[in-house]
Amino acid sequence: MSKTPDPSPPLRAFLARERRLVAAARAARKRAHAPYSRFHVGAALLAASGTIYRGCNVENASYGLTICAERVALASAVAAGERRFVALAVASAGGVTPCGACRQVLAEFAPTLKVIVTDAAKRGRCRTFVLDELLPHRFVF
Ligand SMILES: [Zn+2]
Repeated sequence: MSKTPDPSPPLRAFLARERRLVAAARAARKRAHAPYSRFHVGAALLAASGTIYRGCNVENASYGLTICAERVALASAVAAGERRFVALAVASAGGVTPCGACRQVLAEFAPTLKVIVTDAAKRGRCRTFVLDELLPHRFVF
């Protein structure tokens, strides 16, 4: 039986950063306002500055006014002056990927953003994508 070697220091730091991002998304999910769908989502967006911005979905009785966790995190980051982003973690039941609207809004700033989705019910289970893989041929003019 072979033993998995310890990761190199840069890889360890990279993995630790991703774990922190996923943990932040899970924590943000607890603040979701989702009385209608009861589908709680948390997002954590890592800016190039190293700061993590959190978001949760905020639903409204007028359903169309609901905003997703991903766009809440992005808007918060942009309002803080950030424009460059490295990775996004999203936590939800089932580990869903961002909706089309969020993909388009995120692509405005970071078309090659790393997107990590995690199943909030299954600790540690993550899938990783690149945004332009989730949204090929985004709208640009
Ligand atoms: Zn969305």
